[in-house]
Amino acid sequence: MKRIGVLTSGGDAPGMNAAVRAVVRKGIFHDVEVYGVIGGYAGLMNGNIEKLELGSVGDIIHRGGTFLYSARSEEFKTKEGQQKGIEQLKKFGIDGLVVIGGDGSYRGAKALTEQGFPCVGVPGTIDNDIPGTEFTIGFDTALNTVIDAIDKIRDTASSHERTFVVEVMGRNAGDIALWAGLAGGAETILIPEDPHDMKDIAGRLKKGHERGKKHSIIVVAEGVMNGYEFAKKLKEETDFDTRVTVLGHVQRGGSPTAFDRVLASRLGARAVELLLEGKGGRAVGMEKNQLVDYDIIEALAKEHTLDLNLYKLSKELSI
Ligand code: ADP
Repeated sequence: MKRIGVLTSGGDAPGMNAAVRAVVRKGIFHDVEVYGVIGGYAGLMNGNIEKLELGSVGDIIHRGGTFLYSARSEEFKTKEGQQKGIEQLKKFGIDGLVVIGGDGSYRGAKALTEQGFPCVGVPGTIDNDIPGTEFTIGFDTALNTVIDAIDKIRDTASSHERTFVVEVMGRNAGDIALWAGLAGGAETILIPEDPHDMKDIAGRLKKGHERGKKHSIIVVAEGVMNGYEFAKKLKEETDFDTRVTVLGHVQRGGSPTAFDRVLASRLGARAVELLLEGKGGRAVGMEKNQLVDYDIIEALAKEHTLDLNLYKLSKELSI
């Protein structure tokens, strides 16, 4: 393999730049030319592809977002779209592709691999919802953004003796809510993986209030319901003064944490190694601090599982 491509796709995540940098530098280290696809699969179909040099990825390890841009493309979900992409890759003499993104992007990588073009998936999403890895690139940074917000909300919540509902991202996964709720000392964490009981939540809040608790923070994962809807339901059960904060896209931005930069560097470099070993159709990940890789099709078939022990602990510590 003498020429490989790299693209970022789907929702952007802090650390994607660090992953691209790792792909480019690792490739060049092994005398392989690396081409960047601008604008995800849409850019791929249009042949928006350019050669990346060592200097192309200088000064980006600390930047959020993705300098290769990201996009969503319905056309790429069709076989014709995928063939268009493969034609472009062949035109540029590219023999393998690293796809950095979430599960939708993996499906694209899987489709290309099934049509004979080897791809390796690198998990990049703040949601931490990709099977085959304990952590995805961007999750830790998003978590730290949420913690920062919760700490600030706690200051105002305690000054006014209020209950705050904080809605966080995560799509159908509760990882951001769970980890941020635990690290932020939230009284209640609502995740899609576990059904909740409004009466029980209200009862816990009242109990806390009775023992002198002046304020409460409730973290709600977007996959459960939106924060305003939850606050309305809570209002039916209690008379607490409640405010809602929806953190939204701030969770996607910012300079990646050291953890995400190291994770991205390791995963990006491993993806290149796999392509060079002739192992296309893989998805890389990190388990117990060791690099792992799975067949991309098997990885997608697996279920993402939330750390239930952590969830249990969060309940024990927030009595
Ligand atoms: P993420 O990768 O963050 O999950 P999306 O689900 O939007 O984001 O997926 C990103 C892109 O991957 C889509 O816009 C589409 O071009 C491509 N994609 C998603 N699903 C498929 C599929 N089943 N087959 C081929 N390509 C897909």
